[in-house]
Amino acid sequence: MNTAFGQSTVLGYPRIGADRELKKAVEAYWAGALDADGLARTAAGLRAEVWRTLRDARLDAIPSNTFSYYDHVLDTAVAVGAVPARFARLGLSEMDTYFAMARGVETEPALELTKWFATNYHYLVPEIAADTVFTANPAKALTEYAEARALGLTTRPVLVGPATFLLLAKGDDPFARLDELVGTYAEILTALADAGVPWVQLDEPGYVTDRTPAEIDALRRAYTRLGTLTHRPRIFVASYFGELGDALPALLDTPVEAIGLDLVAGAGNLQRLAAAGPLGGRTIVAGLVDGHNIWRTDLRAAVSIGATIAGLADHVAVSTSCSLLHVPVDLTAESRLDPRLAERLAFARQKVDEVVLLGRALRDGTTVLPAPLPAAPAAWRHDEVRGRLAALRPTDRRRGDYETRAARQQDRLGLPELPTTTIGSFPQTDELRRARAAYRAGGLDDAGYTARMRAEVERVIRLQERLGLDVLVHGEPERNDMVQYFGEQLDGFAATEHGWVQSYGSRCVRPPVIFGDVARRGPMTLDWSTYAQSLTSRPVKGMLTGPVTILAWSFVRADQPLADTADQVALALRDECHDLEAAGIRVIQVDEPALRETLPLRRADQRAYLDWAVAAFRLATSGVADDTQIHTHLCYSEFGEVIDAIDALDADVTSIEASRSKMEVLDDLAAVGYGRGVGPGVWDIHSPRVPPADEVVEALRRAVAAVPASRLWVNPDCGLKTRGYREVEASLRQLVAAAAEVRRD
Ligand code: GLN
Ligand code: ZN
Repeated sequence: MNTAFGQSTVLGYPRIGADRELKKAVEAYWAGALDADGLARTAAGLRAEVWRTLRDARLDAIPSNTFSYYDHVLDTAVAVGAVPARFARLGLSEMDTYFAMARGVETEPALELTKWFATNYHYLVPEIAADTVFTANPAKALTEYAEARALGLTTRPVLVGPATFLLLAKGDDPFARLDELVGTYAEILTALADAGVPWVQLDEPGYVTDRTPAEIDALRRAYTRLGTLTHRPRIFVASYFGELGDALPALLDTPVEAIGLDLVAGAGNLQRLAAAGPLGGRTIVAGLVDGHNIWRTDLRAAVSIGATIAGLADHVAVSTSCSLLHVPVDLTAESRLDPRLAERLAFARQKVDEVVLLGRALRDGTTVLPAPLPAAPAAWRHDEVRGRLAALRPTDRRRGDYETRAARQQDRLGLPELPTTTIGSFPQTDELRRARAAYRAGGLDDAGYTARMRAEVERVIRLQERLGLDVLVHGEPERNDMVQYFGEQLDGFAATEHGWVQSYGSRCVRPPVIFGDVARRGPMTLDWSTYAQSLTSRPVKGMLTGPVTILAWSFVRADQPLADTADQVALALRDECHDLEAAGIRVIQVDEPALRETLPLRRADQRAYLDWAVAAFRLATSGVADDTQIHTHLCYSEFGEVIDAIDALDADVTSIEASRSKMEVLDDLAAVGYGRGVGPGVWDIHSPRVPPADEVVEALRRAVAAVPASRLWVNPDCGLKTRGYREVEASLRQLVAAAAEVRRD
């Protein structure tokens, strides 16, 4: 059997299908419109299509088991028997147990969903309890391997590695069970070897973050043990999203045959490798093609890095920096992109071609690589924006002192103690979605669309008045997505038609591309906000998405620092704030839910990120007068590491997800001296459940104990767009009543 690794590979490929076939099939299955066999057939078809695509592209090391019905971490949990008892005892079929873990059932909440490193993909957090008994269950990996064999292909099954699996898990010190889990992986490897599998890929991205010496030692132990198994496939340990640091020499101490390094997000891996000493017949899998962004690779620069590695290692294979899961499937599906932009892009399919070409060039040294692209078209530059940025002074990012601001704002707003508000969106009904779709398709004209949306705004304003909320919102009916909405109105952004990327389970997003200088063509939100304000005497919040979040949920240009792009977005938002203020809007909220998400994985890189992130937010929000109240909103995360930065945003009011963590975030804010307004979420909007009145009152009392009532706001955890009106009305009624009750305390 040929045991060479191959010349070119990818760490994974999109599994949703070119036309989101998997999403549609899985959702049909959930809805009872497709049976288990039908779903399995669609899945097998999608897998075969991916393998054929990779084979036809002449990729010579093809992965398998990268398909997933929902999530690859969940698949690995199943492969090691880590199905929590609370799901196992439901007595469902294998497929339905799997989906129960992913989505929950009436009686059992789902596994927790959280961000996959610094990406917008979410994985399901494995639950490891004292009674978890690891058992090898290699069926999925074996089935997929056999399917590919039937097509004449020998593939490399992929699993999350044991150390990273436990680092991502929750429970009572899961990592302490590594030795035990490695025993289970040993059984899986044996089963794969029995089936003739020549190579297996074990992903250990958990080691591109700061790890203790003990954790690194544990990695060394794990792979020494797996590596010394007598009957096993060859082992490829893949890392991605950054630098392995001290984990690299640890892995080199073990008998594993191949190690994968991300040379895009982890350029320093190269020096570390050079310093590591003899690599002993090992294959280095060089992640030279960015799997996390959509720009074409500078192939000449990449091949020279590859050549450097070839001088160090016996064998080099070319790969993507991470799985291609994070980029859209195929650029050729896009027909409306500016050709000058399209020629600069590579989606998953195109990245495979790059990998193959690089592999060939490294092997023969004669393959001619295309020249790098010429400089970006002049039309993508905005000299005015660049001039403004160059002229910025530190005072442009600073507001007056908070006490003065707070007093002026209170004079102008006259709010009661414990003011009530919401985070921005109201339910997006089918009818609203249909109206937006009809408008896009041309079936509804400008006037018809505006009338329809205004009617919705009016309905939402009247509802809030009826409920007795203090600071109102227009409800965001016109927004498909909080980033896309702005991207469509800013220069320098492009939207794709089919550029879907899996976010979690069947949920896909279509991030816009930031390709040039960002500039505002005109007001983006002004009409909606001023219309809403014209309907009521209560203050209506203007609603913007912050620069960090806009970058986090886009594919961002790679030819200038993120900080510069963030500042360009910030200037556009600053102008919008100015227009809103001039039109009489007294409160403006700038959402930054993604602030934590893009935090660099290594502490050494975090300061620089937080500095520009905070600076951009402040540039966006510091142009307003003292008596304009700036709110921000954060959610989706544990805020521990960014709590100082939240304070540094200097918003007058910060609304923040808190109901699941029982208000702990208030103590964290107090610990860093945060002394401005805060609205800890008192209603978890992630579930349709209407909170009982005493629960909201209790949450508020807990908040009042941590923060002076004069600074406390009352609001839900997040926007209401995914909820239905029935629970929204009922819950907001509780929220307003609870505020009234606690005011009387
Ligand atoms: N204003 C947005 C909304 O309410 C905020 C969304 C978010 O935090 N993700 O929908
Ligand atoms: Zn939110």
